[in-house]
Amino acid sequence: MPGTLTVCQITVSELGDVFVLENELEHSFGLDMKVATHSLCNGNVYLKHSSATHHILHCNTCHIRVPVPVEVENFTQLANHFQQ
Ligand SMILES: [Zn+2]
Repeated sequence: MPGTLTVCQITVSELGDVFVLENELEHSFGLDMKVATHSLCNGNVYLKHSSATHHILHCNTCHIRVPVPVEVENFTQLANHFQQ
């Protein structure tokens, strides 16, 4: 459903850190784009370039870094990646 704002929570670490996605699930990522909010610190989480195989989700407040494969290109794929 284009234009529908979907809120989705994903658990991204063994400690239980939760990122809250607040975007259209079909929306594609871009580097340096804000993709989530970190529920623990309320920081903004940005997608950063890391390597040929992985990007990094980086929280600008507590600086947690969570790797994701470069194949993850949109919010649906990100949610699926962490819910498996
Ligand atoms: Zn944080």
